Amino acid sequence: MKRRDFVKSLGAGSLAVGAAVTGAPAVHAEEKIKWKMVTTWPKNFPGLGTGANDLADLITEMSGGRLEVKVYGANELVGALEIFDAVSRGTAEMGHGAAYYWKGKSEAAQFFAAVPFGLTAQEMNGWLYSGGGMELWTEVYAEFGLVPTAAGNTGVQMGGWFNKEINKVTDLEGLKMRIPGLGGEVLKRAGGTPVLLPGGEIFPSLQSGAIDATEWVGPYNDMAFGLYKAAKYYYYPGWHEPGTTLECFVNKKALEALPKDLQSIVLNAARVANANMLAEYTARNNAALETLVTEHKVDLRQYPDEVMKKLKELSDEVVSELAAKDPMSGKVFASFRKFRDQAIAWHNVSERAYLNQRSL
Ligand code: CA
Repeated sequence: MKRRDFVKSLGAGSLAVGAAVTGAPAVHAEEKIKWKMVTTWPKNFPGLGTGANDLADLITEMSGGRLEVKVYGANELVGALEIFDAVSRGTAEMGHGAAYYWKGKSEAAQFFAAVPFGLTAQEMNGWLYSGGGMELWTEVYAEFGLVPTAAGNTGVQMGGWFNKEINKVTDLEGLKMRIPGLGGEVLKRAGGTPVLLPGGEIFPSLQSGAIDATEWVGPYNDMAFGLYKAAKYYYYPGWHEPGTTLECFVNKKALEALPKDLQSIVLNAARVANANMLAEYTARNNAALETLVTEHKVDLRQYPDEVMKKLKELSDEVVSELAAKDPMSGKVFASFRKFRDQAIAWHNVSERAYLNQRSL
């Protein structure tokens, strides 16, 4: 068919479609597909919100504009913690969050975000992409009509912001702390009160005294929220989130309705976004830590070994009990634990051995 005839055959109604009228070498003119992405992050929040934007832009770019994704920050379309349900019922086609927010839907979801004393970013990616983790995650989200995938990683987080010193585990007793997921369960066993708050509510809650302490992410993000203005001590390491995976989940029906190449673009754009976010955190955290300590005079503290030892014991207890009571969690944990054991053995002679030598 000659191009002129082809354009004519589309009919007047289709002339608005760009490629056919502008002379681009289009074989066929397609309608633009428009998707909505809802997120748990404040719009454009550094690292997390911008990570969601990055994923949306990548999809639009890689598809040559055939699939355009519009990002909605927390509470723009639905509440921060309502995005799972919103994508599940198709209000939006995709969401960007962290899997431990959905433990009320499926306890096993928590393994795909962060496990206390669990996997680092590098290890999470190894487990998910090449160690069987992704298959399990897909299984967990299937009953909600969602297809999940990794879409970012913060690296090792910080332990949190406190207005009192933490010298022994009993210093955590009675402490009302914002800390999500399994780490929150561990805090509860140590005598504290875990609170789940979306990012945007942390600073006002800490400042007003509604919470006594909080963790958020790391220097880059914590400085952006101004947390140093509301707490004195900044503890490390983030034992509860050693390499948190951020997620993208897609409504399964919406994904399957796409042509195969666009399906591949959505999932592979998430892989690129996953790598981009970790690179960004790696690059920004060190600069931000320096600013916090030198300019904002933050008191940087390491958790005492005794506190870490006890929290690790409690973490093992919490995770083992979860695996014993919830069959899907048991199945996921079996895979996770095997991978972690092997990763520990390997990283003792690789990453750890090298880092120890480098820091001498
Ligand atoms: Ca965190």
